[in-house]
Amino acid sequence: MRDCVFCRIVARQSHADVEYEDDAVLAFKDIYPKAPVHVLIVPKRHIDSILTMERQDAELLGRCLLAARTVGEAKGFGERGYRLRVNCGPGGGQVVNHVHVHFLAG
Ligand code: AMP
Ligand code: ZN
Repeated sequence: MRDCVFCRIVARQSHADVEYEDDAVLAFKDIYPKAPVHVLIVPKRHIDSILTMERQDAELLGRCLLAARTVGEAKGFGERGYRLRVNCGPGGGQVVNHVHVHFLAG
């Protein structure tokens, strides 16, 4: 397997506190939360970054946004709202090169 911390979490070879899962997406708590509620939403299939995503990845990234909405509703932020953030490349603060959406609320 690829040497990727999020791929290992998807494969259940590393632990994470899973908040949501479907056939294409996994969401788990960020280990260093920067907000009272901080969840990472990742595609199960490895994509490095928005910087290098391909057109064929667009639906999968859309699925990540839908999963983020589901997480928000499950956590009671469906009406109040929340922030979604995607860091893109080193200049954008991306440290883990498996694309992910930060869900930040509270
Ligand atoms: P980014 O800077 O956008 O690449 O964000 C990476 C995020 O992943 C950071 O907020 C880290 O706290 C988080 N993170 C790194 N390793 C893990 C892990 N094993 N489990 C959960 N979150 C992690
Ligand atoms: Zn990966």
